[in-house]
Amino acid sequence: MPDPPSPPLAIRNATVYPTPDSGPIERGTVVCRDGRVVALAPDAPVPSDALVLPGDGRFLVAGFWNCHVHFTEPRWRNAAHAPAGPLEEGLREMLTGHGFTTVVDTGSDPRSTLPLRRRVEAGELAGPRIRTAASGLYPPRGIPYYVRGEVPWWIRWIIPQPRSPAAARRAVERNVRWGADLLKLFTGSYVARGTVKNMREATARAAVEAAHRHAQLAFSHPSNLEGARIARDAGVDVLAHPPDTAEGVDAAFVRSLVERRMGLVPTLKMFATTVTRDPAYLGPIHGVVRQFREFGGEILFGTDVGYMRDYSTDEEYRALAECGLDARAILASLTTAPARRFGSPAGAGTVSVGAPADLVLLGQDPFSDPGAFDRVAATVRAGRVLYARN
Ligand SMILES: [Zn+2]
Repeated sequence: MPDPPSPPLAIRNATVYPTPDSGPIERGTVVCRDGRVVALAPDAPVPSDALVLPGDGRFLVAGFWNCHVHFTEPRWRNAAHAPAGPLEEGLREMLTGHGFTTVVDTGSDPRSTLPLRRRVEAGELAGPRIRTAASGLYPPRGIPYYVRGEVPWWIRWIIPQPRSPAAARRAVERNVRWGADLLKLFTGSYVARGTVKNMREATARAAVEAAHRHAQLAFSHPSNLEGARIARDAGVDVLAHPPDTAEGVDAAFVRSLVERRMGLVPTLKMFATTVTRDPAYLGPIHGVVRQFREFGGEILFGTDVGYMRDYSTDEEYRALAECGLDARAILASLTTAPARRFGSPAGAGTVSVGAPADLVLLGQDPFSDPGAFDRVAATVRAGRVLYARN
């Protein structure tokens, strides 16, 4: 669906980082019209009817992706009918206030996510682009213990827990009919704290093949070595977390994930804040991310926000930096890497003439401090200001 028309917008005199790999354009002015960037140059002329955001002393980068979010909190429950105000407030607090212009919902209640997505696309709600897995697929009797508590018992039966490859294909087809954009599998599910139930490989493979027939990416929550191995061998495209029970996950295994061109979403702050900060737990997870990166693997930024109730992203950027990602690599994980992985149009994920006008204005230079990626002064999607700090 095309984005609704918006008045021209100009961001004047910012330091612009057009791509993760190009040097900055000092005192750059960007002009956006009809959802796209139409000019980018120092002193580019500003149309007289444009809304102007001052960029002096600020830093402009492409709009961010968050490749792991959920709309499971009570605030989204009536998304189809709730007034726009409180929903927009929620989207700002959780997402657009942190620079996210596109988010990947890796499984929520489709009765919340689908109306949210529809209302954003119709221009009724100022929010990010939403790509959704609709409902994730679990192993039989494999709903995680931390989800069971949130789901009323009487709808648990509709949560897909396929017992055979044929049932997995049917579950994928049903999600696609509902409007899913991607597949999310639990190839390893924590059915109790410390106890992982894995999905059978044949079931996972049937689901992935069905998703791929619809040109959809498959994400997986692995939990442990076996969950990651099943994901890899079933053809999954992206691990939505590193395996956090990292026992047995060695360099050769991590290299095999990179060789299969799998993407990885680190979600490091989530592990630290919702499980434990014990280095005996976090150290090996950081080690997997560091090795994955060293072998040239593709990191996709994602936080598991929505499940994680603390929305700030500062700590995730610092944790990524500790795992060896420099500002360039972090910016790629936020922009060009997910845009390419999801097959976005040419130029998406960059600030360039002709590209979608998805932009983030930062109050501090992210190339001098990774935490600056969370000093968001304004967020623009398709040329429309979604968030501006007062
Ligand atoms: Zn999640």
